[in-house]
Amino acid sequence: MKFHIMTLFPGMVMNALSESITGRAMGSGAISVEAVNIRDYANNKHNKVDDYTYGGGAGMLMQADPVYLCYEDITKDLSAPPRVVYLTPQGSTYDQNMAKEFSKEEDIILLCGHYEGIDERVLEEIVTDYVSIGDYVLTGGELAAMVIVDSVSRLCPGVLSNSDSPDVESFSDGLLEYPQYSRPEVWHGKRVPEVLLSGDHAKVDEWRHEMALVRTMDRRFDLYKKYVLSHPDEFIPKKSRRKKRKKD
Ligand code: SAM
Repeated sequence: MKFHIMTLFPGMVMNALSESITGRAMGSGAISVEAVNIRDYANNKHNKVDDYTYGGGAGMLMQADPVYLCYEDITKDLSAPPRVVYLTPQGSTYDQNMAKEFSKEEDIILLCGHYEGIDERVLEEIVTDYVSIGDYVLTGGELAAMVIVDSVSRLCPGVLSNSDSPDVESFSDGLLEYPQYSRPEVWHGKRVPEVLLSGDHAKVDEWRHEMALVRTMDRRFDLYKKYVLSHPDEFIPKKSRRKKRKKD
């Protein structure tokens, strides 16, 4: 899968994405990431890409033309028009289902705004999806684009090893993941749950599923309700097992 990031700060995204799993995936060719500098498409001698907004108001706006020229340059050699995702607080809230959907694309353009955003007219012409990473305002779309590259690429073939499979993770079946433990068996007086040491895989699976339900009920009641409604025949624990923390 190829990610094309339209940005005023290519170094910011490339530096971060070149680390860890995304960096390795770029190295092996499982994904490709190119950050294209919108400023390279400015057509004035100071490479200015922003201007005042019509109607007044504080702040500058990214102009339509450099964004459009950058888009044209990226898409000129692609066989089909790609999805163009504008990262904006005004978009639909990003989630794992969107990540899955995006991971099926061959090419995807992630458009990062800055300042007050981007001239509406170019957005109308090129954007297919408006996506927000949450109800807060960032200074630019770069962090949001990195969130998308990271979460989508781990669903692309060859990015994670089998043991890191994304099939059993939070959201993969509509629930949060169960709690997990590693060595030592006892830490700060707390024992690893006995069932995990039993070697009985069926029991371990059953325990994990129950814990996933309980955790989802405790932390994300919205997801829990959806799960219960879509699994009418399943036994669902009705009571939270969360131990109340003692107040200091
Ligand atoms: N004036 C815009 C508004 O009120 O909707 C906010 C502009 S924001 C300061 C600058 C850029 O940051 C946006 O164009 C967008 O690309 C990015 N951005 C800010 N918050 C975001 C969020 N929650 N999700 C995705 N992108 C965001």
